[in-house]
This record gives sequence, structure tokens and C-alpha cells, in this order.
Amino acid sequence: MAEQSVERLRAIEAQIERAAGDSGRPASSVSLVAVSKTVPAAAIRPLLDAGHRRFGENYVQESAAKWPELRDAYPGCEVHLIGPLQSNKAKDAVALFDVIHSLDRPSLAGALAKAIDGTGRRPRLICQVNTGEEPQKGGVMPSDLDAFLRRCRVEYELEIEGLMCIPPFDQPPSPHFALLRGMADRNGLTVLSMGMSADFGAAIQLGATHVRVGTAIFGERAPR
Ligand SMILES: *Cc1c(COP(=O)(O)O)cnc(C)c1O
Repeated sequence: MAEQSVERLRAIEAQIERAAGDSGRPASSVSLVAVSKTVPAAAIRPLLDAGHRRFGENYVQESAAKWPELRDAYPGCEVHLIGPLQSNKAKDAVALFDVIHSLDRPSLAGALAKAIDGTGRRPRLICQVNTGEEPQKGGVMPSDLDAFLRRCRVEYELEIEGLMCIPPFDQPPSPHFALLRGMADRNGLTVLSMGMSADFGAAIQLGATHVRVGTAIFGERAPR
């Protein structure tokens, strides 16, 4: 099974290279975030042994249990938080993660700013946008985005690198990717976190710099 995840990783890397090439972009312009949520450390190690270092997680507690040890064993890991973040876990998140993709409200911006001041650790920050305007989903509403980004910069002195979205699962994703890209362009942001197992090729065509791929590498997740 372990070898299978490495084989799948290599296949995804090849697909990324092709999708990037089709768009006239170097493969190095797309970072593969291997989404290891619910995957035990023992099943992550084969990818680490194979040299992969960039992973995505959804849960602060699960990450706190898995990553400190893996980081010690495998220098150079980059761990991304891609799941929703409660403000009361901001300090733990700042301590644990190198990149946070789910910044989506002023209270969280405030909590992150405080945690960054307190710990001296400064994860890279990406703002999640609710492109489908779904009530149950996190993310800044598109119409609020420009003001939110300004507020992050001016009031909280946070530098936001880019935007992230999770399109509604029952809609074609490309219009959402295009919308996200337009919002990033108009705000001068260069990082676009978009595309998952089912649609990362389309996301790359529309400018993704980070694709978040779980199932296609690790297989179906067990229910949490
Ligand atoms: C779980 C998750 C992914 C990975 O999804 P797959 O379909 O398994 O590739 C990507 N992004 C976010 C935000 C996730 O929660």
C-alpha cells in the first residue's frame, strides 16, 4: 500500500507537469500539497521517504499529534492548514503550520496577528474566498474581499499572499477558479490555492500555484 501512494504521487506530479506545460508554464510554478488529513503518520512516511515535503492538513489537533515528530525526522517539511480555523486555535495553528489557507474573517485575522506577535512565528497567509456563496462553507464573500484584504493589511498588519477556494461540489469548478483568479489579479496577489483530486488540471489551466490533492494520492479517506 505504501508503494502505491508513492506511485500515485509520481503520477500526479506527471499530470501537473503536463497541465502546466499545456498552459505554457513551468511545472515548478505549481506546488503540490499532498492532503494527509485523517492519514496516520505511518502512511505519510513513505512519501517523506520518497522526498515529498509539502503536506496539507485540516485539523489542528490531528496535526499537533502527527507533525512535530515527522518534522524532526524529515527536515524541510512544509505543513499547510487548509481546513477551517477557530480563532481560539490561532496560537496553536501559528506554532504548527507554515502556511494557512483558511483566513476568512476579521476576528481570525486579529487572533492570528496576536499569535504571530506572541510567538515570533509568521506562517504565510492565504485568504479563503467563498466563491459559491454557500452558507455552510467558510470563506470571505466575493463582494467583501477587497475590503477584508485592506483591513488585514492596515489594521492587522498581515501580509496576505494569495487566495484559496473550494468550489461547490455540484457545480463545474472552472468558473470558480476563473473568478478567484480575477480577484487575485485585481488585488495584486500571486498565490492561487485551487484544485483538488478531481479538478487540479483545470485549476492549473486557470492559474493555480498550489493544488491540494488528497484522495488521488492516499486513496479514499475513512469517515472521520
Ligand atoms: C480534503 C481537502 C482537499 C483534498 O481533497 P481530495 O478530493 O481528497 O483531493 C483539498 N482541499 C481542502 C480544503 C480539503 O478539505
